[in-house]
This record gives sequence, structure tokens and C-alpha cells, in this order.
Amino acid sequence: MIKNHNLKVHNSLSGEKETFVPIHKDSIGMYVCGPTVYSNVHLGNVRTFLSFDMIYRYLVHLGYKVRYVRNITDAGHLTDDGNVDNDRFVKQSRLEKLEPMEIVQKYTVDFHKVLETFNLLPPTIEPTATGHILEQIELAQKLIELGLAYEINGSVYFDVVAYNQKGLNYGELSRRNIDDLINNTRDLDGQDEKRNPVDFALWKNASPAHIMRWGSPWGEGFPGWHLECTVMSTKYLGEFFDIHGGGMDLKFPHHECEIAQAKGANGQEPVKYWLHANMLTMNGQRMSKSTGNYILPMQLVSGENDFFEKPFHPGIVRFCFLQAHYRSVLDISNDAMLASEKGFNRLMDGIKNLDFIQNSKESTFDVQNWLKDCYAAMDDDFNTPILISHLFDAVRVINGAKAGTEKLSSDDIEVLKKSLNEFVFDVMGLKSDEASNGKNDKLDGTVQLLIKMRNQARVDKNWALSDQIRDELAAIGIQLKDGKDGTEYSLN
Ligand code: AMP
Ligand code: ZN
Repeated sequence: MIKNHNLKVHNSLSGEKETFVPIHKDSIGMYVCGPTVYSNVHLGNVRTFLSFDMIYRYLVHLGYKVRYVRNITDAGHLTDDGNVDNDRFVKQSRLEKLEPMEIVQKYTVDFHKVLETFNLLPPTIEPTATGHILEQIELAQKLIELGLAYEINGSVYFDVVAYNQKGLNYGELSRRNIDDLINNTRDLDGQDEKRNPVDFALWKNASPAHIMRWGSPWGEGFPGWHLECTVMSTKYLGEFFDIHGGGMDLKFPHHECEIAQAKGANGQEPVKYWLHANMLTMNGQRMSKSTGNYILPMQLVSGENDFFEKPFHPGIVRFCFLQAHYRSVLDISNDAMLASEKGFNRLMDGIKNLDFIQNSKESTFDVQNWLKDCYAAMDDDFNTPILISHLFDAVRVINGAKAGTEKLSSDDIEVLKKSLNEFVFDVMGLKSDEASNGKNDKLDGTVQLLIKMRNQARVDKNWALSDQIRDELAAIGIQLKDGKDGTEYSLN
């Protein structure tokens, strides 16, 4: 059963927020461009994958069956001139003295480890470019037959001008005009092999030095980067599917080329909703390997870096990312992480406090209305910062109810428990045992039990036992503090 909702998503194709109506009633096809596994993913890459993880989780939470395809680019990602020095895999394999496929394996393993650390759910299909060489050759052939691609010197290029002559519009996603593109790319591109500088490679002839190569009707070569995503998305999701995602920087040329390939070959728009996630910046500049302005995710977690004063738990990073809307730029800094850590701990403490409040007959807080607001935030193009502000409203009331300044009925407490669990753990993907104040469920339960036993000892006037509990806890760094709302504890 799909939850009653009114989801709106920002579609880059129309440039507007649109009501989300899936192509098939209860199931959704979603494709997200995966990593190019020639080196470690940086924290910026993680932000994009995490944005789509949150979107995937929310769609699943609403009750949809989601086929989520995220590829691994393990061949073919190079600048268009086909020079072997521009193949990222070949270049890296020389640097590390490994086979290109060892590079692929090494960084695929690293990628999976990083995403697991940050609690991202795996996609339902994770296809690789090298596993779909035949399909890529077939698509290139089809485009040649349709007059939309041409072969020259063993390479195949997509003919952008021919595509536009068919009344189609290369540039529709990024709103670029083909004439401007031709004028702007002419001087930059020293290529005379292509009919036109805006044409892009579907297949590249491999020079003798190029070791990543496959046989094709045009001789030995390797596929162009854009072709793999068209092939793998249509193979697993069909010629028209619901959602295609990726970082903003992929809009042009990558996604523009994907549209042209699919539309050219199949005669229809391939994707209903194009979703683009915004960039992570550090020191105000886009995080990127090439400029050196980056941090590896594991360096943030271990504390081995020059930017942050202490290590941060992966859950805090996740929370920090979700405090920004996925379409906004987010600048990561030491202060931002410290603030997120505080917020994260407050949220987790609030959820735990739900177990320790006395219920009242009536509530001083409209929980049903609050729940509606939470859904309204997520339905508004996955607005996690607004959702988080509503979650903090609930935390304020829960803490108030614990202190006796607010009241919550048992029904409302149950609704809060269920929905906080769903939003915080299922949709936002946070974990309760990640609060960096050192508390976790098991420790919490144990200390609460000892507090109860100490209270009983005091009732029984067994001062020796009550002092023993307090002192021995203190000796291992757990301080009990008696206040008017009962006994709290802290760790040092
Ligand atoms: P790549 O492996 O270079 O294809 O990048 C993988 C994903 O990370 C793509 O969706 C990119 O758009 C995204 N990406 C790259 N740099 C950043 C950044 N600084 N912030 C957020 N996402 C990024
Ligand atoms: Zn792609």
C-alpha cells in the first residue's frame, strides 16, 4: 500500500517542481550515475550518493517497490580525444603499477566500504560498464543505422547536427543552444576527426598502448562514457523510466548525451524526472580531486586530516549533509560539523527520553498536525532541513514532557515513537548508537536499571548500596546527577 502523499520533485528537464506520478502505479525505476572507480571517492561524491540514498529511502518508506540501479564506471571515462594518457584507469594503473582491472577492483571495494560506513543502502542492481560492452556496441550500431552516428578511423561519434535536423533538441536539459556550443567548443577542441566539435564519442579506437580494449565491428577499442548509462538504464528500467539522478556537474555533457542517445535510438524521452544533487564545497570551493580541495570520507571519520579539529562519527556527517537541502550547495567546515554533532546528540537524546516520560490524559502538543508537517516537508522535493526542524520541535516537547512542563498522552507518545523511528532511522538513515556523547541503547538501558535500583535502595534506606552504585559508576566515568526531574547521567 502506498502511503497517501503528495510528493513534488524538482525536475531539471522542466526546471520546475512537479507532482510526482510514477509511470507504473506502485513501482519506481530509478537510475543514479555511479562512481568512476579509478581512485578513492571523496566526501563530495559521498554527498551526492547520500542525497539519492535519502530519496530512495523515502520512496521505499512511502510504500513503493523501487528498482534502484546505480552503475560502476569501470571503463571508458576519458576526455574525448582518445589519447591513452587521458584514460583514467590506464593512467592510474601506471601510477600504482597495477593492472587496470586491479585498479577497478581496489576502488570498487573502497567505494562499497565507504558507503557502508555512511549507512547507504545498496542499489538493487549495480551493473558495470565492462559487463555491458556488447550492448554498447549494439547501441552504437543502431545509431549509425539511424543516421545519427558515423564511423571514422575505427571510432564512432554521435552526430549532434543530424540529431537536431530530425527536429530533436540537443541541449534541452542544460538549456544550451547548439550554435553557441559549436562556437564555444571549436577553439578548445583540437580535433578534426569529428564532423563537428560538439559530436561526442560512442566508441573509441584503441591505440596499441591502450590496454583496456574490446573487439568491435570497427576494430579494437573501448566505449565512450555516456553510452554505458543509456545502455544500462534502458536494459534494466526500460526505454522510459521514472527517475534519473546524479550530481549537478553531470547535467552537461553527460546527461545531455544520455538523452540524445536514448531519444535518437528509441524515439522517446528516456526519463520522466531528472533529479540533480548539488555540490559539497570546502573552504568555499567545490570539492574535487583535480584541484586538491578534497577530503577522503575515512579521513573525516578517523580524524587524520588537516581541516577538522577532531574525528566525526559517520552518523554526524550524514546528519550534517541532511541539514542542507539536496539541491543547495553545502560548505563543510569544522564549525558546521561541531554544530551538527550537537544537533545529532540532542535528537538522539530526545528519542531516548520518549521512554522515560509519564503519559498524561491530554497532550499540550498537536502530534497529528506535527506528523502532517513532517510529511509535507519530505513531499516538498525531499526537504530534509525542514523535516529536521520539525523533529527538533518534537524533541523540545518530549524533553518538556520529561521535565513536566509539557504533557503527552500515551497515544501521542506511541505516534511520536513510531514516526521518529521511521523518519530518523529509516528515511534519514541515522543510527541511534552513533551519538558521539558515548551513549548507546545498551549502556543507556543498563544505567537506567542501576538508577532504578539505587532509587529503590534509597527508599529502603539502604544508603550503603545507593552510595556504592553512585561511587562505582563515577569510578568508571559515569556521573549520576539528582535533580528535580529525577536522576540524569553523563559520561566523561
Ligand atoms: P565521478 O566518479 O567523478 O563520476 O563522480 C561521482 C558522483 O559524485 C557524480 O554524481 C558527481 O556529480 C558527484 N560529485 C563530484 N564532485 C562532487 C562534489 N564536490 N559535491 C557533490 N557531488 C560531487
Ligand atoms: Zn551516467
